[in-house]
Amino acid sequence: MQTDGTDVQRFRIVIIGAGFAGLGMAIRLKQAGIGARGSGGVPQDDFVILERAEDVGGTWRDNSYPGCAVDVQSHLYSFSFAPNPNWTQVYSPQAEIWAYIKDVSEAHGVLRHVRYGHEVIGGEWDESTQRWEVRTTAGTFDAQFVISGMGPLSNPIPPGIPGLGTFTGHCFHSARWDHDHDLAGKRVAVIGTGSSAAQFVPEIQPKVGKLLVFQRTPGWTFPRANRRISNVERAVYRRFPLAQRAVRARQYLYRELVGFLVQHPGLIEPIAKARLRQQVKDPELRAKLTPDYRMGCKRIIVTDDFHPALTKPNVSVVTSRITEIRPTSIVTDDGAEHEIDTLILGTGFQVMPVADPLTGRDGVALAKRWSHRREAYLGTTVAGYPNYFMLVGPNTATGHTSVLLYLEAQVEYIVQALRHMDAAGASSLDVRAETQAAFNQEIQARLAASVWTDGGCRSWYLDPDGGTSVLWPGHTGRFRKALRRFNPADYEFAGAPVTTAAVA
Ligand code: NAP
Repeated sequence: MQTDGTDVQRFRIVIIGAGFAGLGMAIRLKQAGIGARGSGGVPQDDFVILERAEDVGGTWRDNSYPGCAVDVQSHLYSFSFAPNPNWTQVYSPQAEIWAYIKDVSEAHGVLRHVRYGHEVIGGEWDESTQRWEVRTTAGTFDAQFVISGMGPLSNPIPPGIPGLGTFTGHCFHSARWDHDHDLAGKRVAVIGTGSSAAQFVPEIQPKVGKLLVFQRTPGWTFPRANRRISNVERAVYRRFPLAQRAVRARQYLYRELVGFLVQHPGLIEPIAKARLRQQVKDPELRAKLTPDYRMGCKRIIVTDDFHPALTKPNVSVVTSRITEIRPTSIVTDDGAEHEIDTLILGTGFQVMPVADPLTGRDGVALAKRWSHRREAYLGTTVAGYPNYFMLVGPNTATGHTSVLLYLEAQVEYIVQALRHMDAAGASSLDVRAETQAAFNQEIQARLAASVWTDGGCRSWYLDPDGGTSVLWPGHTGRFRKALRRFNPADYEFAGAPVTTAAVA
């Protein structure tokens, strides 16, 4: 770090966010020696991680609701370079994942690079200096590169229901769970029936007095089949890491099969419907829980206990539309007024806040540029925003497997890009607009025939124009192949002549 006589702190690289993405990036920068700067003969890592909260972990710090767990098998939902033989369950709970993130970061020495309580509120590219100025709630940073690890679903959104602010009972979002609030015996309302609600509803149902689940759209479910990983299995993984790698490989293939099935809903819908018949005997309730769109169109809910919990005597599923929230009740369009003590919002997140703070080459905020459609190149760079890299940017999300597989491919791609710039002595890189346009044309064409755009549902996957800039259309190997080699010909460089050979 350097200062320039003002309060501005100068680094080569600013990483935003200390979740899986930002910390994974930092670990690889450190391993690759990128950003290292000699000082008194001692190389120093010239990057900083700006984190708005007071701890690392991102979504696995924020989501601590009862039952919070990963819905991709843990051996796959972990860094490839840091296998954890000690996962206690096939789908590990939030606390274990959070501890894993901290342990891996500690072991790789990146925690000391984190600046806590630094929320990024703005950033401008300066063409004359070829650097970014990044403003935070705790000071300004100047950097050649900005890498966003902000997470595609990090900002909870409350529903825009009239009167929400007038509610006088206890109200919180699933991602801000109030563990001090005792739900025992209470009349509790849950708004939303997505992946989060499907995990916490079965946990709270036995404790509460009355549970009203307000469902706008029913979700398709898929078996989870979680189980404890035995001490013997864990000992085997510790002693024979190859055995764990084999399990990971099998899980990878299984998830790719799931990805294939998602695109062929006719193959899995009958099984899902049979399962619903078996779990929910009451035809009236079953009708409420039966989706009228293709399976996979919305994110499939991986659960074995959500629907069974909804059959319990203290639970009612309300499908009438909510028209108003009053100080002690929720009013629905059938005229009913539901008196409640506690309101839990399982209403999801703002999608991809990654765009929020930055203003690029032509002075246009990325959020404005993306107001209709988020377009990037390989989910990682955006034309007009030089030296800005995104992790889990547009069209990198996956409904079927571990996002870390995509994230790691991006991290390696960025490492190659930075190495190329070092070798060429370039000060900035900017993806060619025509390269980005051609890439997006191709993936939107692939997405047009997918279940997400064609499956008859509305979801957070979709843009206002009906396309999707969230999901990657295809299998994981295809994404990883697309990012395997950084191709300088895709970029314009400033600061030095650059070779156009792809980086090996
Ligand atoms: P979500 O999937 O966006 O679900 C939000 C729910 O709230 C939906 O049922 C939605 O209904 C409903 N809703 C939103 N606004 C509403 C309103 N004004 N009135 C009534 N209902 C409203 O959010 P989430 O469950 O928090 O999950 C978000 C994502 O996080 C998931 O898709 C997944 O990617 C991730 N996640 C992962 C895990 C895991 O890996 N274990 C767990 C939880 C979440 P509509 O369907 O009609 O929009």
